[in-house]
Amino acid sequence: MKDLIIIGAGPAGLSAAIYGIRAGLDLLMIERFSPGGQVMNTHEVENYPGFVDPVKGWELMSAMENQARRLGAEIINGEAGAIIKDKEKNVFSISLSNGKSLIARSVILACGSANQKLNIPGEQEFTGKGVSYCATCDGAFFKDKVTAVIGGGNTALEEALFLTRFASKVYLVHRRYEFRGEKILQQRILANNKIEPIYDTIITSIEGKEKVTKAILKNKSTNEKKDLLLDGVFIFVGYSPNTAFLPEELLNTRKEVIIDKNLQTKIHGIFAAGDMRENSKRQIVMAAADGATAAMNAYDYLQEMG
Ligand SMILES: Cc1cc2nc3c(=O)[nH]c(=O)nc-3n(C[C@H](O)[C@H](O)[C@H](O)COP(=O)(O)OP(=O)(O)OC[C@H]3O[C@@H](n4cnc5c(N)ncnc54)[C@H](O)[C@@H]3O)c2cc1C
Repeated sequence: MKDLIIIGAGPAGLSAAIYGIRAGLDLLMIERFSPGGQVMNTHEVENYPGFVDPVKGWELMSAMENQARRLGAEIINGEAGAIIKDKEKNVFSISLSNGKSLIARSVILACGSANQKLNIPGEQEFTGKGVSYCATCDGAFFKDKVTAVIGGGNTALEEALFLTRFASKVYLVHRRYEFRGEKILQQRILANNKIEPIYDTIITSIEGKEKVTKAILKNKSTNEKKDLLLDGVFIFVGYSPNTAFLPEELLNTRKEVIIDKNLQTKIHGIFAAGDMRENSKRQIVMAAADGATAAMNAYDYLQEMG
């Protein structure tokens, strides 16, 4: 039996492992793909402290993984499923996709989230070459460039406003006549002369050579198509936390894990860190901080349990 099992080996999980091991916990990590999480698909990271120049996503995560392994972290390959608590013994049984199960005295969930895709031609091909799902991360690469934001919810509106710090022009393409985001954000959007809303319109493809050069838009009422020349397309059409395997009682309406101020879930002894938890800012540095906090609180919990 382990003191702690960490599910997910992205920035939150790896940081939890580093702190957990240094606190003397006997722990194990479970990762369904290879370690590193979403950052492995990120071309360059410019906002993680400690790097003067942008660092490649895979380089940053290899360093985190190697650091965790050097300290003694063991990462097994597998997909975690149901977690069952034995209330008498205060231990958790975690089932894996291969039919086996693992036992631990505490659990940290660090499973991240996935951005919803448009699934249009060019989207995948140009991801990291003009297509982005994070203006906070990539906005600075679009200084004085023409961009489009796709979406109409709070995230799309916030990210469009953020992009105006860098881009010379931000088209805000929304499939309806009205944005879904908060009124105050809508007012800021309409007051910003760098932003041009394009309503009742969908994007049907993204084109370019080495990088994005244009998007093809289609008006939903008239079916009329037009080319929009631009350098970047930022897609904010929703995201899904990787929480499908968790019981409903742990989740809010957006399917994020509900946590208290110690990052503990509604089940005593299970903690959640990073992108999958409610109110996450979905950034590497925050995920890493969450992982450290969750590990320290798991340590305190285990001390209390004796
Ligand atoms: C394209 C892109 C660019 C980005 N750029 C930046 C940037 O420049 N700067 C920045 O700060 N942030 C950036 N982000 C956001 C950043 O990647 C996330 O905030 C961060 O990775 C969250 O870390 P995490 O550990 O919570 O989750 P993740 O990185 O998603 O890691 C979760 C891990 O859990 C695993 N997992 C999930 N479910 C299970 C299961 N049931 N069993 C076992 N394993 C499981 C997954 O395979 C994954 O490896 C970017 C995101 C994207 C998509």
